[in-house]
Amino acid sequence: MEKILTPSELERKQMTYLGIANGWKETPAKYTKHLAECGTEYETTICYMEYPEQGTAIKRQRQEMRKRYNLTTKKSGTYSVKTEETCNQCGCSWESWT
Ligand SMILES: [Zn+2]
Repeated sequence: MEKILTPSELERKQMTYLGIANGWKETPAKYTKHLAECGTEYETTICYMEYPEQGTAIKRQRQEMRKRYNLTTKKSGTYSVKTEETCNQCGCSWESWT
């Protein structure tokens, strides 16, 4: 289990605000680093059906590696929703609008 940092611990870790993700012309280097270095990998099983031209559908499954990030997410707004995400591992935070 990863430890969730308290707000003061996060402050000490120096938070980096990366701005609004929707407005990024280029992905900030810190965000790329966050994607690469933060999070924990886990294996998940994807189940899907295969439909051959003849015969009945075959149930198949495959293993896939996914990543789970330790993020704090805050949402605000009613018409357009602003999502504020903070990574609890590297201290980067960013916003996005939907
Ligand atoms: Zn991170």
